[in-house]
Amino acid sequence: MAKWSVRHGASLRKRYQAVLEQKRDTYVCSVCGKKAVRRISTGIWQCKHCGATFAGGAFTPSTEAGKAVERIISRLAEGAAAQAAEAK
Ligand SMILES: [Zn+2]
Repeated sequence: MAKWSVRHGASLRKRYQAVLEQKRDTYVCSVCGKKAVRRISTGIWQCKHCGATFAGGAFTPSTEAGKAVERIISRLAEGAAAQAAEAK
């Protein structure tokens, strides 16, 4: 399967820059409400405040595609949540 490339012209590169900006942002946690959710891995987001882990888009926490990803890694997310509960 052909992968999306960033080398397809200026407009796409500009868009990629915008995506990189999004990656650095923090997002509001749907569990604790703090703006502390950061991307920890591709499609995986974690709240630095309460430790909640979310499956989402590669560059933003919530996308339509993210819902499919969420199903795939739900077990992983559950494992992280269990670890967070143990740590309390
Ligand atoms: Zn939180």
